[in-house]
Amino acid sequence: MTGTLHDITGEAVALHALPPLDTLTDDQARGAVCVWDAAEPPLTAETAVDLGERPSAEGGHWFPHGCRPHAAQHTHAGDPLDIATMREAVQRLLGPAADPPGAELDLLILQLRGHLNLLISELDGCDDPRAEAGLGEARRRLSAGPGSLGPLRHATLLARSVVALCTHAERLAVTG
Ligand SMILES: [Zn+2]
Repeated sequence: MTGTLHDITGEAVALHALPPLDTLTDDQARGAVCVWDAAEPPLTAETAVDLGERPSAEGGHWFPHGCRPHAAQHTHAGDPLDIATMREAVQRLLGPAADPPGAELDLLILQLRGHLNLLISELDGCDDPRAEAGLGEARRRLSAGPGSLGPLRHATLLARSVVALCTHAERLAVTG
């Protein structure tokens, strides 16, 4: 199996808009059918990609799922990697005045995880030893979660990985 499917996660899709909830069928809204195509057969545990918990307009939550082909397409359908936006997010944590309050920290972590997943899917298989090392580190930090480190330390490590992978992406010119 190549790394490509492996890296499709809800987080990688997180930065791209899903179809609005009120345009979906009930089966799509409850995650039984691909959010991108109501005509597809129901998803199974084998075919579904969990796109993560999303807030709904009514203040509740919904749990969209997509088929692998659509999820892959939407993971890569965005603009070329937005390195400037990524570096800006990182500055909230690593900049001279970095001290984000708790609520903002939670959002930043979500954003940084999304950035990292995108960077990982772009750099995966680049066959560059230095980038490979950075990818391994980023994956470890993503899967470790805040754990005993606490959210601020976790966010700081994610931010460092974003910086490292942005640098590799620019050096290897995968930024489109
Ligand atoms: Zn689909």
